[in-house]
Amino acid sequence: MSERSAYDHDSGEGLLSVEETRERVLAKIEPLPPLELPLTDASGCVVAADVLSGVDLPEFASSAMDGYAVRAADLRDAAPDDPIELKVVGKALIGQRPEATVGVGEAVQIATGAPIPAGADAIIPIEDIEGGGDRVRILRPVAEGKHVRPSGEDVKQGDVLVPKGKRLGAPELGLLANAGVPHPLVHPRPRVIVLSTGDELIPPTESFTFGQVRDSNAYTLFGALREAGAIPVLAGIVKDDPESLKDTVFSYEIQADAFVSSGGVSVGERDVVKAAFFGRGDVDFYRVAMQPGMPQGFGLVEGKPFFGLPGNPVSVFVSFEMFVRPAVLKMMGRVQLVRPEITATLSEDVAGPKGKTQFARVEVVRGPDGWTATPTGGRGSNLISTVARANGLAVIPMGTGLAPAGSRVKVMLFRASED
Ligand code: AMP
Ligand code: MG
Repeated sequence: MSERSAYDHDSGEGLLSVEETRERVLAKIEPLPPLELPLTDASGCVVAADVLSGVDLPEFASSAMDGYAVRAADLRDAAPDDPIELKVVGKALIGQRPEATVGVGEAVQIATGAPIPAGADAIIPIEDIEGGGDRVRILRPVAEGKHVRPSGEDVKQGDVLVPKGKRLGAPELGLLANAGVPHPLVHPRPRVIVLSTGDELIPPTESFTFGQVRDSNAYTLFGALREAGAIPVLAGIVKDDPESLKDTVFSYEIQADAFVSSGGVSVGERDVVKAAFFGRGDVDFYRVAMQPGMPQGFGLVEGKPFFGLPGNPVSVFVSFEMFVRPAVLKMMGRVQLVRPEITATLSEDVAGPKGKTQFARVEVVRGPDGWTATPTGGRGSNLISTVARANGLAVIPMGTGLAPAGSRVKVMLFRASED
């Protein structure tokens, strides 16, 4: 990426757009090679090829009622004043191949879910018969197929159970289990190593000395990665020196599918990241026309994506949403990579830098006249509580210095409405 020394923060001159940055990132991301995983691990993963059924579902015709399996043709002339008597020749039980067959003038007692015995084509529910033991009387004709669950009614052998590209949710998992597909071929969840860089950082569990900063980014990223479907691995805090960064990254390299670091990409600090990967990776630094989150690092380290996010907590969240999340979803074989957007009416003025896209933290609420977006606090990229109170990022496009109250804006929703 070419670097421009002369740029102007507010005009956006010399900055890459968010979309272009995302495209450059996504161009280097491939879905992870598919694996056959057990259903419990494959839950939430995207199938890598059409999953075909090797069987009919249901696999055998069964009874939908407790009663008697009969031949409909035997009962054509049955009437309340002229019942037809059938000879009971056996029982059909659940989970067993019926031994008895139903010949002319015969019936077999059957339980709900039991396979239909050969020769029968209808079920008379127990409450519709008279008698019992080895003789039953039936008062009415029955249609062929009545109360019979035919085999193959749900799925035919060779049908597509789950198409390529579909994510395995609850019903798909149940369907695959039912069809005897215990190890579907899916794109696995990426294992993403999370690092926090900064000499001032301490873990939230440690006692605090004035001037230190508790590492919040690792936890924001942990939650965001997990929510996106990845497997986050916290690698802890790394000092601002190339050796520490290099040692940490390479100690996790074998298990990593990607890395996300925060901090150390501002102009004064990025030399650390550059020096750490010299020769073994290629991390570029971008200035993106967005606020927050202007400085971004991205590249491949030993062939694995490395995201160098800025250190400010809000920038981390927004950068994750714009670049890391779509990349993680692509690695998982997902197709829809960006968040759903709604259009909302701003309840207050939102000022932004003219030359950048501003992502304003807002709470959107649905009212009788559509969605309303209310900013949750100031613009500062250190104000993490403003994200915690928000459920969306309002997109104030480049070129808009001020989005006035009452104007309509696009909002990317990052929480499900029931959360
Ligand atoms: P940097 O991008 O490293 O210059 O960091 C920008 C600001 O974010 C500084 O005030 C840092 O102290 C703060 N910061 C960096 N990393 C973290 C972190 N992991 N958790 C909380 N704040 C951080
Ligand atoms: Mg730093």
